[in-house]
Amino acid sequence: MRHSRWFLAGVTVLVTAPAASAQAPADSLAVHWNAGAADCKVNPPAPLETHAIGAGTYILRESLCATYEAPFMYLLIGSDTAMLIDDGDVADSAQVPLVRTVLSLLPAAGSSRLPLLVVHTHRHLDHRAGDAQFVSVPNVEVVGYDTASVRRFYHFTDWPNGVAQIDLGGRTVDVIPTPGHNETHVSFYDRNTTLFFSGDFLLPGRLLIDNTDAERASAKRVAAFVRDRPVRAVLGGHIELDTAGATYSWGSHYHPGEHVLAMTKADLLALPVATAAFNGFYGRSGPFLMINSIRVLIAEAIALFAVLVALIAAVIVVVRRRRAARGLPVTGVQPPPPTV
Ligand SMILES: [Zn+2]
Ligand SMILES: [Zn+2]
Repeated sequence: MRHSRWFLAGVTVLVTAPAASAQAPADSLAVHWNAGAADCKVNPPAPLETHAIGAGTYILRESLCATYEAPFMYLLIGSDTAMLIDDGDVADSAQVPLVRTVLSLLPAAGSSRLPLLVVHTHRHLDHRAGDAQFVSVPNVEVVGYDTASVRRFYHFTDWPNGVAQIDLGGRTVDVIPTPGHNETHVSFYDRNTTLFFSGDFLLPGRLLIDNTDAERASAKRVAAFVRDRPVRAVLGGHIELDTAGATYSWGSHYHPGEHVLAMTKADLLALPVATAAFNGFYGRSGPFLMINSIRVLIAEAIALFAVLVALIAAVIVVVRRRRAARGLPVTGVQPPPPTV
């Protein structure tokens, strides 16, 4: 999320949400992630959690105490290459040992280990700050996060149309442009596991939409893509809801009773209708809470300005009344001296 936190502080809403599973059997997506802490100085959790989903697929999450964003990252391992989708919000490997953890999960390839490709769902810092940990690491390629780099790397010639592919060796991943939350956004579909990695395009939380038209087009594009494909689950970049469907406050390091991460193909198929009904400012449709963060920011700035003007006007009225009561000129301007 990153770009739009403070002005939405205190916005807590209820949205329709399925119940979460408390326990996670092996290979289940219903992982009970660490809830963080009300006071992270007391018994802070491990900075990074790792959960395997079958062979060669991992979910990683930075803890809520390491960063309130607590972003999810995904490691997909093919026979030739491994791919990390997003690298989180923490640049310092002493704070979150992302690079060491990811490299330890890679199988050996001869005397070395499998090459690693680091990609991003989009350019927001909470999805790419970890790039710094991979600088100068042998056998690692970090793909650029600006729009030009994204288009060039995936060979998109008609952005945001078209679907690109990455071949990891016996494992093909489709790359679908999904701008709207951010102009660089892409989503990934792993054909082997049929998992759909949606970043901040779709997650159990606030859908922050910077460009409504782009978001609507992305929703249609994705719905058309998944309509005739199996989707085991949709895995996004954050969890911002509890099991009752209420959002946690912005910046919270404590998420008691967190909603499950996984969303569904039905959610993806419902997005076109939801985004079509979005008024471009703020709206809810089924499980979706949609917010244009830029417009909300402008509206809140205008409201704040109006409150300040009203306060100043009230102070002027009070001062004038007091001066009038004391027989002083209400303007505060002294009358000119009499002429002789
Ligand atoms: Zn994010
Ligand atoms: Zn974002």
